[in-house]
Amino acid sequence: MNENCRFCMIVSKKAKASIVHEDDNVLAFMDLHPANVGHTLVIPREHHETIYDIPEKLLANLFSVVKRVSVAVKKSVDAKGISILQSNERDAGQSVRHFHVHVIPRFRGDAISKFIGAMLGLGFKKAERQKLDEIAKEIKQNL
Ligand SMILES: [Zn+2]
Repeated sequence: MNENCRFCMIVSKKAKASIVHEDDNVLAFMDLHPANVGHTLVIPREHHETIYDIPEKLLANLFSVVKRVSVAVKKSVDAKGISILQSNERDAGQSVRHFHVHVIPRFRGDAISKFIGAMLGLGFKKAERQKLDEIAKEIKQNL
């Protein structure tokens, strides 16, 4: 629990949120600045800032909720797809420093298509195999 954290305030019910799921470890609620109607956030109750810090077992539990919330959001707003977004550290666009996963319902041609499209590599050129193998080797060594 971090007194300066907006999401910890929601967990402790000191701040308002439109909650859709609550269990011993995980909370899901509506994003206050939705990218699309139905945009939901899934967070751990415990304060962990990033994916580097969060325990793996808790993350596994949390992603089970992400799956169930995704199905429910899609049904509720008749979405044509769902994007899952999770950012770590300021330079990646993390605004609240309490780990969170965005569940974003998607619609054909919606306003965020160009951003998500770029993120998924649709706007990037194909890499050379040798470069991919080099960075893959580096990552393998750090796993
Ligand atoms: Zn927090």
